[in-house]
Amino acid sequence: MPKVTYYSGETFPLEMHKVRIIQKLTLLPIEERLAAIEEAGYNTFLLQNKDVFLDMLTDSGVNAMSDRQQAAMLLADDAYAGSATFSRLHAKLTEIFGKKYFLPAHQGRAAEHILCKGFVKPGDIAVTNYHFTTWKAHVTALGGSVVELLKKEGLEPVSTNPFKGDIYVAGLEELVAKVGAERISYVRMEAGTNLIAGQPFSLANLRAVSAACHKHGIKLVLDASLLADNLHFIKTREAEYASVSVAQIAREMADCCDVIYFSARKLGFGRGGGIITSDQKIYKDLRGLVPMYEGFLTYGGMSVREMEAITVGLDETMDEDMINQGPQFIEYFVRELESHGVPMITPPGGLGAHVDAMRFLDHVPQTAYPSAALASAVYIASGVRGMERGTMSEQREPDGTEPLAHMELLRLAIPRRVFTLSQVSYAIDRVRWLYANRQIVGGLRWVEEPELLRFFYGRLEPIGDWHHQLVAKFRADFGDSL
Ligand SMILES: *Cc1c(COP(=O)(O)O)cnc(C)c1O
Repeated sequence: MPKVTYYSGETFPLEMHKVRIIQKLTLLPIEERLAAIEEAGYNTFLLQNKDVFLDMLTDSGVNAMSDRQQAAMLLADDAYAGSATFSRLHAKLTEIFGKKYFLPAHQGRAAEHILCKGFVKPGDIAVTNYHFTTWKAHVTALGGSVVELLKKEGLEPVSTNPFKGDIYVAGLEELVAKVGAERISYVRMEAGTNLIAGQPFSLANLRAVSAACHKHGIKLVLDASLLADNLHFIKTREAEYASVSVAQIAREMADCCDVIYFSARKLGFGRGGGIITSDQKIYKDLRGLVPMYEGFLTYGGMSVREMEAITVGLDETMDEDMINQGPQFIEYFVRELESHGVPMITPPGGLGAHVDAMRFLDHVPQTAYPSAALASAVYIASGVRGMERGTMSEQREPDGTEPLAHMELLRLAIPRRVFTLSQVSYAIDRVRWLYANRQIVGGLRWVEEPELLRFFYGRLEPIGDWHHQLVAKFRADFGDSL
């Protein structure tokens, strides 16, 4: 964000865009918020958006489009096969990433599905810096297993390490020596590592991982869904790239990788996704799966209007002023809460501010889902909807045992170009209040626990009466305020 210093000598986030279309919001009284979360089984995924004030659930598919994107959507060329819109998107991807082939898919997980179907055989190992929920579900459904090689600092909640998403490269060499390169389906590097609070990797690390993979003939796949944030962090945190354009950084990253896939619900401010590569064999191996699962090769389940928007959105992603609003709001969010003693994941990452629920609710055991309880408590206290990213997001082992998550996080996502700083300030205020009253908040237990991806639609209930006590304390402190 802009190099603007205030008269006080401080700097604050300053948006390099203005709002030209608005959506009205409502903030329900706390009693109605309690009724809404009760109705939703204490799972924020099941809340109705009409009951939500600030929707910080996710950054997926809810980023604001620009005037240029909206204009481009009117020029979409509607054709099942050979649409000019597809050609424009393909050309833009090739221009940015330098890869020849593009296989479209309707969203990120659909690209994961195709990549896993194509590359993962039973007994295989898929290596990653850190897993993402849907990707891991695809790997394990095909009989593969996931090995994470995140460097140790990646899981330390409080850190000054600027690149917590880096892979421990020596670990990759050790793994290859132990299991053999043939058993490794591919190595997946996730940009802006989602489940560890949107933490980036460095370009130096990507280069080292690329060299190690290619020495052993292993494919390197980049999950570029959160690439915009990672680009910003390489530019601002990796000294060597301070004066290199984000477009140049993107190209250098792409040159390290054999395959890139992305969710355009995040990358490109639209809705869609796909896979790009310059390797003709990979392209041909995967090509047949696109018409089978997604749609014909020139749309892959995306609407032409969205494809036009993504083309322009990718262009905007190569503009530092267009991608730094998210990370800078998040930094403000995290640093403000940190200054009030609220335990946050640091350094601030991309996609959202992450509260460390393990420390926030240190009296709630992991088996009573502190992150999920905190997500419900924040909604009750503020009408802000966040997302549980902890043990509830894990999957039980086939024998029914429940793995405890490495981290218990409450994610308060900042959809790109959507919120104002006063809305962020409101969220900060209510989280501060909740922290002061954290002893009231207790855990949750299952009422209905689905077998697969339980966090999406499972239902829970509070253990004890903490939800009513929280409402009573709010009324005592805030009177009749919303
Ligand atoms: C969101 C996300 C995905 C999945 O993308 P969808 O479009 O939601 O299916 C995959 N990887 C990462 C890193 C993501 O953040």
